[in-house]
Amino acid sequence: MYLGTVSYLLLLLIKVLFVVFVIGLVAGIVVWIRNNLFTEEDVKTIKSAFTTTKVVENKELCATCTKELNSEWKVCPHCGTEKEIKNV
Ligand SMILES: [Zn+2]
Repeated sequence: MYLGTVSYLLLLLIKVLFVVFVIGLVAGIVVWIRNNLFTEEDVKTIKSAFTTTKVVENKELCATCTKELNSEWKVCPHCGTEKEIKNV
C-alpha cells in the first residue's frame, strides 16, 4: 500500500515535471524564433496581414479634433479644419 502511494506520487511528479518541461521548451522556442528568425519589419508585416487594413485606409483622423474623417472629405465637419493630405 505504501509503495503504491509513493510510486503514484513519483509518477505524478514526473508527469508534472514533463508538462512544465514541455511548456518551457515551447516558450523557449517561441522566444528564440521571435528573436532570431523575424526582424521587427517582418513582425510588422505579419501583424498587418492579420489586422484589417480597410478601416485604416478609408478613415483618417482629424489633426485638430482627432475625430474620424472620411478619406473623401477635404474639410473636417466637426471643427472645420482643412484636412492635411498625407502620402503614405
Ligand atoms: Zn476636426
